[in-house]
Amino acid sequence: MPNFSKYALSDRYANCLSKISKYKNVNAFITVFDNAENLDSASSDGKIIAVKDNLCVKNSYTTCASKILSNYKSPNNATVVEKLLTQGNLIIGKTNMDEFGMGSGNVYSNYKPTLHPIHAEDSVPCSDPYVPGGSSGGSAVAVAMNLCDVALGSDTGGSVRMPAAYCGITGFKPSFGRVSRFGLIEYAESLDCVGWLTKNVNSCIDLYRNLQGPDQKDPTTLNMINYDDYTILQKIRNIKDGGKRNTISLGYISDESFFVGMNPEFREAYFKVIDQLRDEGFNLVEIRKDFVEDSLACYYTLATSEASKSLSKYDGSHGNINDTIREQGFGFEVKRRLKIGSILSSSRLLTEYYQRSHQIRHRIRQDFNNIFTKCDFLFIPTVGDFPPRQSKFIYDHENIEEEELEEIVHSWWALKESSNDHSFMKAWLNDTFTIPPSLAGLPVLAMPLLHIKHPELANHSFSGQIIGAIGNDKGVLEMGSIME
Ligand code: GLN
Repeated sequence: MPNFSKYALSDRYANCLSKISKYKNVNAFITVFDNAENLDSASSDGKIIAVKDNLCVKNSYTTCASKILSNYKSPNNATVVEKLLTQGNLIIGKTNMDEFGMGSGNVYSNYKPTLHPIHAEDSVPCSDPYVPGGSSGGSAVAVAMNLCDVALGSDTGGSVRMPAAYCGITGFKPSFGRVSRFGLIEYAESLDCVGWLTKNVNSCIDLYRNLQGPDQKDPTTLNMINYDDYTILQKIRNIKDGGKRNTISLGYISDESFFVGMNPEFREAYFKVIDQLRDEGFNLVEIRKDFVEDSLACYYTLATSEASKSLSKYDGSHGNINDTIREQGFGFEVKRRLKIGSILSSSRLLTEYYQRSHQIRHRIRQDFNNIFTKCDFLFIPTVGDFPPRQSKFIYDHENIEEEELEEIVHSWWALKESSNDHSFMKAWLNDTFTIPPSLAGLPVLAMPLLHIKHPELANHSFSGQIIGAIGNDKGVLEMGSIME
């Protein structure tokens, strides 16, 4: 452990502050704490932490990048924030995000979009910038650009892993229930997880050690005790002690339909990494890709339906979002999703899509259970392409009619682009690989594994996801540390 002096901590903090201000143009932060209140009590080797703006920090703004919460100050700390502060770390600010976590590009923010780190030095033309991924894009950029040491995010369907992949860093989404969500502002409550973004797997492991565990304030954490898979952990320990790698089996998918819409270079990189892992001695096992069918439509049905309930509290209407407050307080993407969510939860469509989604989700869980009888971990890509540009996320839906929205929902399920909807299906392609494990509540580590050339995005990497069975969070992280 480096032996930082007290001076070094305040020095490191000041250094991060000056970089945040120097690189203001990337717009990674919504609020910056110019003075860390607990600097005197912090530990000399404390970490400087950025926190996504949907996690509460006591007495500071928690806006979820939404106008509707622009004046909201949290009365208490989220449990994860409280733990980090008690352990002697410093919080440097609140990071930009897609409003309420709804998005994949960090474009849908009331505080302007966050830019990909490549735009920090203004060396790459900025008329249509690359996105950093979302919705934890501010956190990803803060870590990638060393504006902090590590960052907290949230991951409902990929919001930690995707920006980690686009920004070339490591992201971890724990099992649903492993880490307290007390103080995380809801998006879709059956899917939301607190996650984090770091420069390497070891920092991810450190945070896991410090943040996981039951919390009386979040009942979903209470039955996640002793879920570790000790057989797998022992195998990894043996490998670390010089034992054979073939005791660990890694599942992969080769079915061509899994790669539809994927950039061929990313497909190639995926198989290259698989070959490397095989050469290193791991036991690679081919897995059928059953679990992906319908998962995007299922996810977006559940996420929008749950969001339409959880966000109804902001206008006091509890069920029917009050029109005026909604019109003024939410951005267009949130409004669109809330309308879709209420259409989907209406009695007319309830069985057709909402209930069907629950059945599909159940089947996806079973598919994964089945997969983990054949291998210890499943290894798949995190995203299928380079980061897109901002314009991909901008489309005109301001005045879309209810009937048209309903047609959009039907088109989700028919898996075809609807005539009046321009780009959402393409934006969804970003989520293809991250959503299935979210639906099953599984622990996933996303990490950069292989350099991929791009004319403008220097040092871009192919990112892979290591997915484990529910509760096998430690196994996933330890596996990552032997692959790094
Ligand atoms: N892109 C997905 C969505 O828009 C996931 C977002 C998230 O994980 N918060 O819902």
